[in-house]
Amino acid sequence: ETIDANLRRTVARHGDREALVDLPTGRRLTYTQLDTAVDELARGLLAAGVTTGDRVGIWAPNCAEWFLVQYATARIGAVLVTINPAYRTHELRYVLEQASISTLIAAVEHKGSDYRAMIHEARPGLAALRRVVLIGDESWADLIAGAGSAQVCADLSFDDPINIQYTSGTTGFPKGATLSHHNILNNGFFVGEAMGYTEQDRVCVPVPFYHCFGMVMGNLAATSHGACVVIPAPGFDPAATLRAVQDERCTSLYGVPTMFIAELGLPEFRTYDLSSLRTGCMAGSPCPVEVMKRVIGEMNMRDVTIAYGMTETSPVSTQTRSDDTLDRRTGTVGRVHPHLEVKVADPKTGRPVPVGTPGELCTRGYSVMLGYWEQPDRTAEVIRDGWMHTGDLATMDDEGYLAIVGRIKDLVIRGGENIYPREVEEFLYAHPDILDAQVIGVPDEKYGEELMAWVRLRDGAAPLTAEALREFCAGRLAHYKIPRYVHVVAEFPLTVTGKVRKVEMREEAIRLLG
Ligand code: ATP
Ligand code: MG
Repeated sequence: ETIDANLRRTVARHGDREALVDLPTGRRLTYTQLDTAVDELARGLLAAGVTTGDRVGIWAPNCAEWFLVQYATARIGAVLVTINPAYRTHELRYVLEQASISTLIAAVEHKGSDYRAMIHEARPGLAALRRVVLIGDESWADLIAGAGSAQVCADLSFDDPINIQYTSGTTGFPKGATLSHHNILNNGFFVGEAMGYTEQDRVCVPVPFYHCFGMVMGNLAATSHGACVVIPAPGFDPAATLRAVQDERCTSLYGVPTMFIAELGLPEFRTYDLSSLRTGCMAGSPCPVEVMKRVIGEMNMRDVTIAYGMTETSPVSTQTRSDDTLDRRTGTVGRVHPHLEVKVADPKTGRPVPVGTPGELCTRGYSVMLGYWEQPDRTAEVIRDGWMHTGDLATMDDEGYLAIVGRIKDLVIRGGENIYPREVEEFLYAHPDILDAQVIGVPDEKYGEELMAWVRLRDGAAPLTAEALREFCAGRLAHYKIPRYVHVVAEFPLTVTGKVRKVEMREEAIRLLG
């Protein structure tokens, strides 16, 4: 089924129910109104000369128009290229060029950055780029006004590419994953199933739409089950998010761990009424056990799940379920999703490793991307025999529950011992003064690598020295896993998706150690 065929079915079944609430502008659309607005925009794009297979870029924070563009491009079969709103001129130019974008739809500005000026700077020499439409500006009104009256009847196949999504850029320069209707619609549908979505659900989406967390696990999961998407703010704002949950009676809430930490840490946290919440999803980076427990206990998200995945697999491969045991719900990423396969393999031979042994997590099935956009060599490096090699290390227990132990690139080898930073981070969370901890390896003459902990302290905590932390760890953590260096910071370097950029931390650490 194509994304549009699926949307039309939801419209037929749940036309009068709310599909979208954009709180910053107060705009509300029922499924019938959504269908009309999507159709108008689709006809506008066709009239402007956009055809099936053309690349249409969207560069904007979360807003109602973003949502409309997602479904309008799907209706005419244009390939939506989702561009990170934090990109600046040179990154924008890279994406416009790499994906040969013919139409760019963008915000006028966001967080004080002038998008119009950056587009102007990036544009010279981009032969493919034929039109720029700015949301809320005359060019948007013109696009809609130009819509013809003919019905949209694109001849689409569900295996066609419909979306190019760039990865988060946590470990290097982002790669453009090319995804089909089949890839992302099914993944969104099964994510919704795992959380028991129905037309009664109201899903609060503070995670960015440009990323699969927002557009697939949020938007497609909701619309394929007739649920409603609530946009609390254009970018992430913890207070606006909790207010949205309260005022819109949301039943589900998403976030990367850092977002939940920010919400739980709000001074007025206890004043929000979160009683409507039932479920939600934490994903994107390692989900600390303590944070999961607080989300279940203090945010009323009794059915909350953890999902694991990556842009290249549409994204979700595994997810916990509300009937899993508490230990598994907080300490694993669940079991494999329906119609997919996973294996934990020796990175060198590709052969499965024994239960409980760390190896590279590989996934296979309908959700694996078509490939990196125009990068066949990089595609061949990661997809071999149909298996997507994730670059993540995991262990599987004898019932198929997976635990992520870290990225292969973040593994620290100190004096011949493998150290998984994740394990040390989990331990540091138990320190009463530590709000958030990240552990990296730094070069060391004697041991090859040494551990450095970056920590964020709770408000009012006394300064923390390396000696004091080492004392706290002594006897409770194997000696070689005790961080040699401690660096106290106010914030970690983050990607827009809220992930910690360890690459940047390592560069900074090397500078610090001189
Ligand atoms: P890049 O590939 O550009 O370096 P990225 O890998 O962060 O960036 P994404 O596709 O957004 O880009 O993220 C996928 C990665 O996020 C996974 O490979 C994994 O390392 C991490 N991840 C996702 N979910 C979880 C989870 N539940 N627990 C631990 N790690 C997770
Ligand atoms: Mg990646």
